[in-house]
Amino acid sequence: MKGYMLIGGKKVFKHEEIEIFFPYDGSLIGTIPRGKEEDVKLAVEAAKVGFEKMKKMTAYERYQCLQKAARILSSRAPEFAELLTLEVGKTIKESMGEVGRAVNTITLAAEEAKRVLGEEVPFDAAPGIKNKVGFYRRVPIGLIGCITPFNFPLNLTCHKVAPALAAGNSVIIKPSENTSLTVIKLAEVLIEAGFPPEAVNVVTGYGEEAGDALVRNSDVRMITFTGSVETGKIIMSRGGLKKYAMELGSNAGVYIDEDQEEKLTAIAEKVARGGFALAGQVCISVQRVFVHEKLFEQFVEEITKFTKTLKVGDPRKEETDVGPVIDKNAADRIMEWIEEAVALGGQVVCGGRRLSDTLIEPTIVTNVPEKAKLFSKEVFGPVILVNRVSGLEEGIKQVNNSPYGLQAGIFTNNIKAAFKFVEEVECGGIMVNEIPTFRVDQMPYGGVKESGIGREGPHFAIEEMTEIKTICFDLN
Ligand code: NAD
Repeated sequence: MKGYMLIGGKKVFKHEEIEIFFPYDGSLIGTIPRGKEEDVKLAVEAAKVGFEKMKKMTAYERYQCLQKAARILSSRAPEFAELLTLEVGKTIKESMGEVGRAVNTITLAAEEAKRVLGEEVPFDAAPGIKNKVGFYRRVPIGLIGCITPFNFPLNLTCHKVAPALAAGNSVIIKPSENTSLTVIKLAEVLIEAGFPPEAVNVVTGYGEEAGDALVRNSDVRMITFTGSVETGKIIMSRGGLKKYAMELGSNAGVYIDEDQEEKLTAIAEKVARGGFALAGQVCISVQRVFVHEKLFEQFVEEITKFTKTLKVGDPRKEETDVGPVIDKNAADRIMEWIEEAVALGGQVVCGGRRLSDTLIEPTIVTNVPEKAKLFSKEVFGPVILVNRVSGLEEGIKQVNNSPYGLQAGIFTNNIKAAFKFVEEVECGGIMVNEIPTFRVDQMPYGGVKESGIGREGPHFAIEEMTEIKTICFDLN
């Protein structure tokens, strides 16, 4: 597919192009234009027109357009899923799952379009104030720059664009250079559904070029970003005075308590699924597992047994459970981190081999010291570390032993232990008797510490994507 930018509803091609490869075998699947500052400027001018047109739409019309977009996307699910598999390398089952979630995210945003609420302000609650009445409203911010990562190009773009439009903003999307084709098609669906073409713009290109120009543009009033911590920090240092929502990385931890013996087989399967889905390239992948010492050996046995049943290979095949990582560089880094963990005393108990440039066996490494990158950083690959801890106190300490704080999990029958974990673990979301990878699209989702700023989930994203305007009437 020859990709293009969408600026003011027009397809824009460029002489310079970026090639897009199928991560599984490196074959060329398409190209996208290498957009630069001049393209961002054009998109910003279009988005200004788009914003004026959005102001004329009622909440009900925005609701209708989003509902229609959800229906169109749903009717084209297999086509979107195939493209996702080719661009991201995720398995076809995972791709169908992502399309389903994207339909749901847009539907949730449609519903939220009807309840962008304000409330009355009690001005007379201040001493000496009489005969003043008023309220505040939530109004759209204006132009929102949406910068998205490679791993969930469809659903994560919907998490930004659908609430932005539901609230009446216009958007300029800069998708990941690896996975822009899916996003271009999504933008076309939104325009087909009835949004003004100028309100939904896509500028493709590299982060340091198109992305940077978008971030620095002062007419762009908010950047909503999902991606790595490193990029997030660069964006905030360059963007100046505007709003930011930052959905960044993590190395999610889970603690398994001593009373879980009977459930250990099921927990091991859940943990492995949470760590190896999308070859571990999920921001809330289970990366670090801390098991009570009484159950450690048994857990390692169970998770190894299940992991060995996972089929690694061609993501286009129905039977494949684990596909490739995004590119060779990512695989090189992941293998280096496994080797480093082993050199520092960790043991590979399952997997550990590289099957091709981008395919890595689902890997379990035990007894990984905290100085290993596999412990302290985000691996973003099919690797889970399993360490032994003496009990709840140490479990909490180790889950917190991370620069990140997106989501965490605990498995226990003990309500006091669960509550202590909930209270003491520093994360945006805590899952009790569930893995940290659990997410449904309506829930508030986001991190603390280096995992980010702000919350997604359409209801919460709309709060981020609106300004409060206070209105006061003097009745004297
Ligand atoms: P990335 O940070 O490399 O890139 C993300 C986006 O930022 C891309 O579109 C890229 O082109 C752009 N970009 C890069 N440099 C830029 C710059 N200087 N200015 C503006 N834009 C720039 O991330 P990635 O490799 O695509 O995605 C993986 C990361 O995303 C992981 O760290 C993962 O945890 C994180 N992630 C977080 C969430 C979440 O909800 N918290 C969800 C998915 C992925």
